[in-house]
Amino acid sequence: MVIVFNHVLVSSFLFYRNPHRFLVDAGCKTNGDAGSGKSKQSEKDGETKLWEKSDFRSLHEQVKEAINYIASKSVTSLVYLLDKDSGELYADKENTKKLPKNGICWEAWSMRKARACHNLDPGDPLVSELSAQQDNTGWKPKSVLCYPIDDSQSGRCIALIVVGSNFGEEIDAHSLMPLAEQIVACYRNMCKCDGSTGDQYRETSPPTSSTTTSDKEAIVKLCGELYDQNTADLQRKIVRYLEEHTNAEFGFMLLVVPETQELYCQVIGDKVLDQEIRFPGETSPFSAVLESKDPLRLENITEDKKKEMEVLLGRSLQSLMCVPVTSRNYDGLVAIACVANKFGTDSFTSEDLQTIQTCFKYTAAILTNTLAFQNERKLKKQTQAMLEVAKNLFTHLDDLTKLLREIMQEARNLTQAERCSVFLIDEETEELVAKVFDGITTNDKEVQSEIRMPIIQGIAGHVATTGKLLNIKDAYSHPMFYRGIDDSTGFRTRNILCFPIKNEAGNVLGVAQLCNKKTGPFFTVFDEDVASAFAVYCCISISHSLMYQRVIAAQIRNSLANELMMYHMKVAQEEVDTLAHMEINSPSFWHADFDKFSFPPRMIPEDDTEMACLTMFEDLGFITKFRIRRDTLARFVLMVRRGYRNPPYHNWMHAFAVTHFCYVCMKNLKLTQYLEDIEMFSLFTSCMCHDIDHRGTNNSYQSVSKSVLAALYSSEGSVLERHHFAQSMCIVNTDGCNLFENLSSKDYQQALDLMRDIILATDLAHHLRILKNIETMAKTGYDKENTKHHKLLLCLLMTASDLSDQTKPWDSTKHIAALIYKEFFSQGDMEKSMGREPIEMMDRERARIPDLQIGFLDHIALPVYKVLAELFPAANSVKVAVEDNRRHWDKICALIKIRRGGSCEQMSYDQILALEAEDHLPQTNQSNHIQ
Ligand SMILES: [Zn+2]
Repeated sequence: MVIVFNHVLVSSFLFYRNPHRFLVDAGCKTNGDAGSGKSKQSEKDGETKLWEKSDFRSLHEQVKEAINYIASKSVTSLVYLLDKDSGELYADKENTKKLPKNGICWEAWSMRKARACHNLDPGDPLVSELSAQQDNTGWKPKSVLCYPIDDSQSGRCIALIVVGSNFGEEIDAHSLMPLAEQIVACYRNMCKCDGSTGDQYRETSPPTSSTTTSDKEAIVKLCGELYDQNTADLQRKIVRYLEEHTNAEFGFMLLVVPETQELYCQVIGDKVLDQEIRFPGETSPFSAVLESKDPLRLENITEDKKKEMEVLLGRSLQSLMCVPVTSRNYDGLVAIACVANKFGTDSFTSEDLQTIQTCFKYTAAILTNTLAFQNERKLKKQTQAMLEVAKNLFTHLDDLTKLLREIMQEARNLTQAERCSVFLIDEETEELVAKVFDGITTNDKEVQSEIRMPIIQGIAGHVATTGKLLNIKDAYSHPMFYRGIDDSTGFRTRNILCFPIKNEAGNVLGVAQLCNKKTGPFFTVFDEDVASAFAVYCCISISHSLMYQRVIAAQIRNSLANELMMYHMKVAQEEVDTLAHMEINSPSFWHADFDKFSFPPRMIPEDDTEMACLTMFEDLGFITKFRIRRDTLARFVLMVRRGYRNPPYHNWMHAFAVTHFCYVCMKNLKLTQYLEDIEMFSLFTSCMCHDIDHRGTNNSYQSVSKSVLAALYSSEGSVLERHHFAQSMCIVNTDGCNLFENLSSKDYQQALDLMRDIILATDLAHHLRILKNIETMAKTGYDKENTKHHKLLLCLLMTASDLSDQTKPWDSTKHIAALIYKEFFSQGDMEKSMGREPIEMMDRERARIPDLQIGFLDHIALPVYKVLAELFPAANSVKVAVEDNRRHWDKICALIKIRRGGSCEQMSYDQILALEAEDHLPQTNQSNHIQ
């Protein structure tokens, strides 16, 4: 809770001492007629009596009493007042409780700065002072505010208010300001009355000799009444005072908007206007007062200006005096106070001028404080409203039409406009488009579904192209205003506030146009500020809504495409049945060496590969161990095969060969001693799936060609591998294809996680990143307890399988290399057609295949099989086979040099094979001679 010292009450303390008037909770609103049950006469008696006996000592008591009356019981206060004679501060009228020269009070006093504190030091002298006030020695303040009060005229600090609360409430120093004003005024007045002392006050006291005692009383009485939080009520009281004391028929105040020098009038005579009168000050008949800050009489202005004034006020003028009102805390004019039509004579006198000036000497500060307070409250309300608006807007992101409707309604409410339209910019046609209308019914029967207009047309067009807000006070006199819509709708546009809706980059997304201010003649500067703040929320919500639409559309397209793909991948039930019901062939059915490293799996006809997969699943014991249904397995294998496209190399046969190598590893390397069953199963399945939907182009091609895959995955890297995994998951999730359906949920999750990690590891870039770790693991020895070792081994086995074409006998290997280069060159050709230069490996005109192969074996393949052999001695033959193939490439290099006169220039793959065939040197051993 914040304790607000309602200055309604505080400022009254000097005059109304009846405690019943103050038995109101501190924060509540009280109006000027509080206590109206009492007779006017007795009130008046109280005031005069109090005033008469007011002296420095009683002032002191009164301030304290006032605070005690208004504050809750949890609050206690002390008031130190300056004793003019001794220059000391005392907290009691007997001048015995001097301000202690240490503690928080002393700090506040000596620094002349308000001090607030939540945990008062128990040793602070203030603790005992405050608890004594409560008649309770155990009472401890939880928060304390020490508020020194300066008198700017004397330059002295004349009082220190101390407020303590034991509920930890925050005490608002700001709310003590009006009380401070009152104390200063009262203190000065008393110094002035106290002839014997207080010379400094007498010298600087403002009232002139002509100010009589009754005038002073009246002003002080007026000050006491000025407790309203509402400036209109406050003005009414000041205006009434001015009327009475200048004998005027009516008075009014013109308040000044500092930023724009606009003038507005809320009160004329005793009447608070329903609709304030507002006009630009600089072009008004009152401009002279604004400029010169001198008073103005009716005699000094032209007849035209007088007429203008009469129109503005709606009253006729016989005499008039306008007096500028300044305030100490603000440089410019706060207001212009005016009195009109003096009774009994035709002109206001210099005494009248003095009366008005004296009046504002005392009341200007209260007026400015109240204006500031009211503005702040208005701002706070607007901020709250804005947050509410933001909340509303962000709940409608899924529907742009609803969102725009919401924006219009909120904009109208915030600025009190009759109507709002929002136009969005159509970049393609350079038009402004309004699709949603705010209650507009056209006279035409045919209601248009949208209004379009060129972006260069009208006020909205101007705002859209310049990005600047326009506040038009009179629409029909504005050159850019287009009357067409008014004419067709019967609506009459009076004034317009049109503001741009810009994104963060400053580009205009649209324009909102508000028409006809309901509570004033036109939109104010305040409305402009509100609109600008509101536009920020509009922009965020509109751009998010548009993005949301695009995302939803993309999602729909994506799921459609997926549906289509799965439809075409669909496997006929007969096919599944055939494969599911056939007896699974044993490994030896395929070849005696089917489970040896030397067996080249590509010698199995493609149409038999599905059954060969089943052989491997069965031989590895997966079918039983993981309770795989035969029809599920059959459908899965068939679907995976369908998932592959048919580029020269990265096709199903590659996947089959890789899977076979993995199978041979499992059979020969006693992997069960190294890996868990679920890891083996996942690795084997990953091998089958690892290149699904490969398009015969590599990752770098995806990004240079800005392919859809790159758009989907490039932020995460390993674009193709992520796609292969996503496609694998599509198959697993297809009805009747879920190989893992009978796993426990823990194993299920693990299997999918492993598949993701293993398939992503087929990115050679990933392999190169972890190779060092694998080598270290091989050196230090594999630790089955170490989960990192499991991961590294799985990745190694995957890479070894993926590159296993290099481990097959030369006759098989050399033909496969031909497929790889066919695929590479085809990518190179596509890059060339895009105007890019492919890397040498992919450029059929530059690639020197034997050199490239040797480089590939030395830097990529051989390190893999070396480390594999290091970990598993049984894999040594694999390494030897790769080294053997490397020697063949060496030999070819040498042959080319001999045949081509020493140059190792580029040859086509066919030329190379022909060259190799011509050479009848025995294959392995002799090649050593050539080296
Ligand atoms: Zn592969």
